[in-house]
Amino acid sequence: MVSFDKEFDLIVIGGGPAGVMAAYHAVQAGLDVLIMDKSNFPRLKPCGGCIATKALALLPFSIEEVLETATGTLNIGLHYDAPHEFTTKGYICAFAVREKFDAFMLNNTIEAGVKFLKIERLDAVKETDDAVCVAIDGGTQIKARYMIAADGANSQVRRLVEPTLKFSRGFALEGLVPYTRLSHIPKMEFNFGCVDYGYGWMFPKADHVNVGIYTCNSDVSIRKADLREYSQKKLGTDEIDDVVGFPLGFGGNTYRQTTERVLFAGDAAGFCEPMFGEGIHNAIKSGTFAGKAVAAAVKGNRKIGERYNEMLHEIRQDLVRCNHAAYQFFYPKVDGLGFKTLTSPISNMVFLKGLASGKTLHEIMNGFYKMPFQKPIYPISYKKLNDKPTVMP
Ligand SMILES: Cc1cc2nc3c(=O)[nH]c(=O)nc-3n(C[C@H](O)[C@H](O)[C@H](O)COP(=O)(O)OP(=O)(O)OC[C@H]3O[C@@H](n4cnc5c(N)ncnc54)[C@H](O)[C@@H]3O)c2cc1C
Repeated sequence: MVSFDKEFDLIVIGGGPAGVMAAYHAVQAGLDVLIMDKSNFPRLKPCGGCIATKALALLPFSIEEVLETATGTLNIGLHYDAPHEFTTKGYICAFAVREKFDAFMLNNTIEAGVKFLKIERLDAVKETDDAVCVAIDGGTQIKARYMIAADGANSQVRRLVEPTLKFSRGFALEGLVPYTRLSHIPKMEFNFGCVDYGYGWMFPKADHVNVGIYTCNSDVSIRKADLREYSQKKLGTDEIDDVVGFPLGFGGNTYRQTTERVLFAGDAAGFCEPMFGEGIHNAIKSGTFAGKAVAAAVKGNRKIGERYNEMLHEIRQDLVRCNHAAYQFFYPKVDGLGFKTLTSPISNMVFLKGLASGKTLHEIMNGFYKMPFQKPIYPISYKKLNDKPTVMP
């Protein structure tokens, strides 16, 4: 039972990877923490469930239980042309079903001592000099010293607290095709240019392939019919189960913490990167930073905004690099130099080795000449997959 009379150290809105990591690190530091979410878990979250090695490396506990497959092989195609296949030692990413991944992460956090409250509605957020007061479900008030908004790309907290913060958004649609419907099991594949300023993807999991289409350009509209066409051409079937879509929150490279009591993390702060639409890594990273910044503030060590802004520097740097890659270099030239560069053997070797050793795009580009000598890393979550002779289904 959650007591509404007490004042929490921290309220986190949203139980996705950003919110859960914020809550986990704050509770580990001894804070009294409440997560509120409008859904009970497990809940649906439109996502490909591709979790990069660099994201797994940030997790403070193993999630091997919910990892279904992992791969060091990447297939990259232009439109519907035959893809180029690239392989590296180690794993560049793993695949999970988001419903299971998020529920597992939340359960671990609850076990660590965080309280969870399912709410119907978030009505208002009011900051005072020494607290933040949250009104929910048409009357209940809950107080905390700090709040972390991790309520995703459509963040309501952002609309309530920082309505002038402007971010851009992308969009993606995904669904699943059971292997029983297919004649072969596909490999991980990106097909650039199948969608303007984006791609189609196939992510193989334990018993199905997750198939999706993505654009980082908010002027491009993508429809279920486009996803069915992609699936028909790549998989030979347009029968896709559970098709869902959702926006992705971009533009976090301009985000600065300005309010004293409310911090934004994950997609709510625009920390998804636009090149691949990868958001889990920065959700975990920014959630971790936000939870640690609140813990330091509660213990009186540092001013919260100052500390959080400092920590966010590396996320901003990476986003600037990804923005440039997506909007200036790659997608505008996808039919020419963009795709040629991505599929040149040297850049692929560098890119894959960088990914398998847990590097961000910024780190890969800055250490371009060192990447060929990087060794793959094996975060603890890979343990079970490593014990198996083969990791792809
Ligand atoms: C179709 C699709 C495919 C994607 N594929 C990938 C991928 O393969 N790999 C990858 O890295 N990224 C992917 N992304 C991006 C990734 O899903 C997000 O970047 C990531 O989930 C952001 O995490 P978050 O914790 O910030 O927000 P979310 O995961 O969106 O979690 C937000 C939480 O807040 C809750 N919430 C929302 N509003 C309220 C409210 N008013 N009150 C209370 N609770 C609220 C929601 O219920 C939810 O639990 C994909 C996105 C889409 C749309």
